[in-house]
Amino acid sequence: RIEPLFLGIDFGTSGARQVVIDRSERVQSEFSSAYSQHESLDTAWSSALWQLLDAIPADQRRRIASLAIDGTSATTLLIDGDSGRCLAPPKLYNEAQPQSVVQRARQMAPAEHTATAATSTLCKVLAWDEEGLWQGAEAQGVEPAIVHQADWVAGLLHGLWRVTDYNNALKLGYDPEAELYPDWLADQPFAHLLPLAVVGPGTPVGPITAEVAQRTGLPPTCLVCGGTTDSIAAFVAAGVSEVGEAVTSLGSTLAVKLLSEARVDDARYGLYSHRLGSGWLVGGASNTGGAVLRQFFSDSQLAELTPRLAGADHPTGLDYYPLTRPGERCPVADPNLQPRLEPRPADDAVFLQGILESIARIEAQTYRLLADLGATPVGRVYTAGGGARNPVWTAIRQRQLGVPVVVSAQAEAAFGSALLAKQGYALANPPAAVVM
Ligand code: ADP
Repeated sequence: RIEPLFLGIDFGTSGARQVVIDRSERVQSEFSSAYSQHESLDTAWSSALWQLLDAIPADQRRRIASLAIDGTSATTLLIDGDSGRCLAPPKLYNEAQPQSVVQRARQMAPAEHTATAATSTLCKVLAWDEEGLWQGAEAQGVEPAIVHQADWVAGLLHGLWRVTDYNNALKLGYDPEAELYPDWLADQPFAHLLPLAVVGPGTPVGPITAEVAQRTGLPPTCLVCGGTTDSIAAFVAAGVSEVGEAVTSLGSTLAVKLLSEARVDDARYGLYSHRLGSGWLVGGASNTGGAVLRQFFSDSQLAELTPRLAGADHPTGLDYYPLTRPGERCPVADPNLQPRLEPRPADDAVFLQGILESIARIEAQTYRLLADLGATPVGRVYTAGGGARNPVWTAIRQRQLGVPVVVSAQAEAAFGSALLAKQGYALANPPAAVVM
């Protein structure tokens, strides 16, 4: 009997990455490929995909039972719905659309909906709409369709061009709770371009095509599962499975994501929820974080100072609000909030500890805010990002949060997608009933 393997593919901001895992979630192989700068975006992405698949050792490739793909959120393509061919250059995740388009999105969608951001998928569709691009294609007998990056890459494998997932569809305006496009979206003249099926991340979609099996050496039964966005795949990678578990990302900014039973959306604090498994992934971001540390210390200075910190048992009593510029959204909604980094002690180790304590206080306040707004109280925090490598900070945070704080063993989005693929395979192949 052949042991199945599961493949996760991440289409990130600068390149694509692939991870193969086994049933015990051990990594069997991984490979990454930077996007070519000399080709159109869609050609660069398809080249990266075939490269990643070619890089899987042949004995593993034959055993890939399922795969899932994540892509950058709100990277949007206008394609021929029959062939997947691009009808316009893809619009990337961070491309802000013109103000006229943003105005239109605001008139359509509920106030402060995530689909009204200038970089949202909805604004990208509206921009194509204003340019008359899909109308022109239809006049030529083409059936245009809108897809996200992850959907398109999956389409190259299973040949289905009208399928997306809850997570990618959120910034389009899809309602993952009611599982439909709300009327304000469904009534638009371009509504027939939207994905026809919206599935849960990690649910079975369909097998790869015979042509792809031939070309890649993957088994023809290899099942493509619903994908997700790159940041949610990175969350899944941390291994969070139960409500109350969360991931804090300590990079340039402080971002938290909590798996909650209840959904929390609150535009005042920039909080919104993605549907994930049987729960909701509530996310929020503060403007404090590692960028403030960088204003004062290089990473090597941080590493040098850390062993000199007095530590969690000896708090400094300093009460800062570390920001690189005025303005905060979460856990305090105040666009004019001033950075507070005074008084500065003579000893840099005391100053650093004061900053670390203050960021930890803001993190704890954020989780309290989520609970106050109805989310499941946090019970365990995984940590990702540059701040995760500071053990003293981890101890300080554990004290502030009052729950176990652990470093994520895995933070690769591709690993998260591999976990989704494994889940999809299990859904499609439930264990046979035991016959007595
Ligand atoms: P991003 O991808 O958001 O730029 P990273 O996850 O790479 O961020 O993390 C970088 C941040 O980590 C920097 O802002 C830096 O201040 C912080 N950092 C690096 N080393 C340490 C350390 N030893 N202790 C605390 N913070 C650190």
